[in-house]
Amino acid sequence: MNKYQMLIGGARVDAASGECFESLNPFTAKPWALIPRAGAEDVNRAVAAARAAFQGEWRKMTATARGAILRRFADLIAADAARLAEIESTDNGKLLAEMRGQLNYIPQWFHYFGGLADKIEGRVIPIDKPGVFNYTRQEPLGVVAAITPWNSPLLLAAWKLAPALAAGNTIVWKPSEHSSVSALVLAELFEKAGFPPGVVNIVTGFGGEVGEPLITHPDVAMVAFTGGDGTGQHVYELAARGIKHVTLELGGKSANIVFDDADMDAAVNGVVSGIFAATGQTCIAGSRALVQRSIHDVFVERLLALAKTAKMGNPLEATTQVGPVTTHPQYQKVLEYISIAKGEGAACRLGGRAATEQGPWFVEPTIFTGVAPDMRIAREEVFGPVLSVIPFDDEDDAVRIANNSIYGLAAGVWTQSIQRAIRVPERLEVGTVWVNTYRAVSYMSPFGGYKRSGIGRESGQDAIGEYLQTKSVWIDVSGTTRNPFVMG
Ligand code: NDP
Repeated sequence: MNKYQMLIGGARVDAASGECFESLNPFTAKPWALIPRAGAEDVNRAVAAARAAFQGEWRKMTATARGAILRRFADLIAADAARLAEIESTDNGKLLAEMRGQLNYIPQWFHYFGGLADKIEGRVIPIDKPGVFNYTRQEPLGVVAAITPWNSPLLLAAWKLAPALAAGNTIVWKPSEHSSVSALVLAELFEKAGFPPGVVNIVTGFGGEVGEPLITHPDVAMVAFTGGDGTGQHVYELAARGIKHVTLELGGKSANIVFDDADMDAAVNGVVSGIFAATGQTCIAGSRALVQRSIHDVFVERLLALAKTAKMGNPLEATTQVGPVTTHPQYQKVLEYISIAKGEGAACRLGGRAATEQGPWFVEPTIFTGVAPDMRIAREEVFGPVLSVIPFDDEDDAVRIANNSIYGLAAGVWTQSIQRAIRVPERLEVGTVWVNTYRAVSYMSPFGGYKRSGIGRESGQDAIGEYLQTKSVWIDVSGTTRNPFVMG
């Protein structure tokens, strides 16, 4: 079993305590890597290194030079993408094909934000007061704590690191305890790319032991978090104590809305990809299929026919379409929701059981019909391969059911009407709407949640603003002395 080391101040280090914990391969449920178990002392060292780097070489570097380092880093990831994808697939059980796709795409975040680094500009404001010159500067915040989950470990880190670094901040990154290996392997590439020591630091371990001291550290200016909404709320409360900047990306209960004028093949395909890709373990999972009553029965038959063909198996094999659930608690949680749905009276039309013949943490792709919008299975995030099909009557009904959620991350709309394709997205209370497609993301387009799905935006030009603060500078150019007792 390989033992990995953290990255603090440019050095590869063990935890101060010397302790490690095991990372499990979800396909076998057996340990395959040893990860340092950091604590508050390690966090203090990492934040001190990040703070020193922020005040030192990184701050003095031109934005163009900073951007060039990000782009070099992108090229290094691209060269190592195959190895990193295999590590991610082994560590989190997602399909190798999916992780390869992500790893091949991740460099674009560093190219794009590397390009934006020297386009961060202030403004000259034609101020209303004579004899004064006023302008703004966009400045970095300082040390950013990046806290990432296990489902797309490097992709979701790239969404934070690329804009934060382009804006001139430094980083302390805590990956999920379930998927830290790729982060610790990626650590090699930061120095190679030319990042000064301490600009990026990686500390591994458990949420309570590493995440909390990191969030509450007085020298951490911002927390960029992706994970569950319960943890997100706690993170937000801790960050509030220090009046810190936050971005939170917290998952959802996204509706994939199929109207009776949809291209049926495309819609069936889109609903399957929305919930069974990545074993349903994505924040954007289309876990509620809202289907117009007039086509409901036909649609469900076609949906079942396609979903039945999904091949479970070893995520490293090219023919596998649905892999294991990533963690044991998650596996138990998915099975518990299946039993809750059955208890609530939903009709289980596909799956509904553990698939132990495939491996210890497999759950069959599961489809429930007869789901009422107020059932728990229709309201709570399962984060697994479980779809709830809910019928609706007309457009108003569809919008009402879709918006009747504490979440607001994403939605899909399937229609061939151009009017509806423009009208319905306007009415949905979500951060992303896909029309006649699903699960598309890009480094160029802002991503984030409405309501309890989060705060702030990742990717696109909006993202860089999350990592900047505005300074207003006033210069007297009149050369006169003003009345000291009256506001100027
Ligand atoms: P968490 O939200 O608990 O984990 C996300 C990250 O937060 C991990 O790095 C985790 O560390 C860290 N963390 C946990 N507790 C704290 C804390 N007290 N202070 C600071 N950081 C903390 O996700 P889980 O793995 O527990 O999954 C639970 C549920 O969250 C899932 O069932 C799913 O519904 C949702 N989820 C949503 C994701 C999304 O993409 N929006 C991604 C993952 C999960 P550690 O790993 O050590 O606990």
